Amino acid sequence: MPTPQASVILAAAGAGRRFIEAGAANGPRTDQRPNKVFALLAGRPVLAHTLERFARVSSVAEIVVAVSAESVEGAQATFGNRIEGGRRLVFIAGGSDRAESVARALEATDRGTELVAVHDAVRPLIRPATIEQALHIAIAHGAAVVGRPVDHTVKAVAPDGRILRTVPRDSLWLAQTPQVFRREVLMQAYQHRENLVGPVTDDAQLVEAMGQAVMMVRGDAFNVKITTPEDLRLCEVLLAAGWPFEQ
Ligand code: C5P
Repeated sequence: MPTPQASVILAAAGAGRRFIEAGAANGPRTDQRPNKVFALLAGRPVLAHTLERFARVSSVAEIVVAVSAESVEGAQATFGNRIEGGRRLVFIAGGSDRAESVARALEATDRGTELVAVHDAVRPLIRPATIEQALHIAIAHGAAVVGRPVDHTVKAVAPDGRILRTVPRDSLWLAQTPQVFRREVLMQAYQHRENLVGPVTDDAQLVEAMGQAVMMVRGDAFNVKITTPEDLRLCEVLLAAGWPFEQ
């Protein structure tokens, strides 16, 4: 069955505070602030890797990237306004938190696509095959999230470092991105996002709050989220070792 067309939203408007604090924000920048999406990975900006991986998926119709307001012009000039195959590439100004960045990007997508995939731009090692799998499950179920079952023992810990308890891990998964939704599901979730109390750290959270089923799609441990300089080094090592290994 052919996959319907998908709009991709890349969230790339974070300040990268944890990365900057660790003192390793390097590489060419399109603004005055260091930002981990523009840090160099194997000689190219992290964002260039992420864009390339989504460009390999034929059902991706367009990519909308939310960057910091001062990066919009420079990023559009650096990366252009098309990806392979003449598909649309747009940079827009993100918001003060991730959910606001995604909401603004959603506004800028083409209403004609059936699916919307949201991805953290700081996960440059996503496998195109995993993206395709998530798109397929989202068609069938309305919403799909790439993730991994928790295989460590999990402890709840007090601010002073004392372990409070061991949390049973049987049903625990770590949510990654991409998270893919039927367009109307994600739009509805974002319309009601003011109703949610507390921080919104992913998109599925908003969809779950509406009572809509969201399916987990098993991804891999190498879909690294670059948060610290060590994560960037890990990505370098994985790329040097030939990740993704099957291609
Ligand atoms: O650090 P955090 O988990 O919020 O970052 C996840 C992703 O969301 C990153 O790719 C970051 O650039 C993006 N983000 C965003 N707009 C914000 C904050 C984070 O697009 N205001």
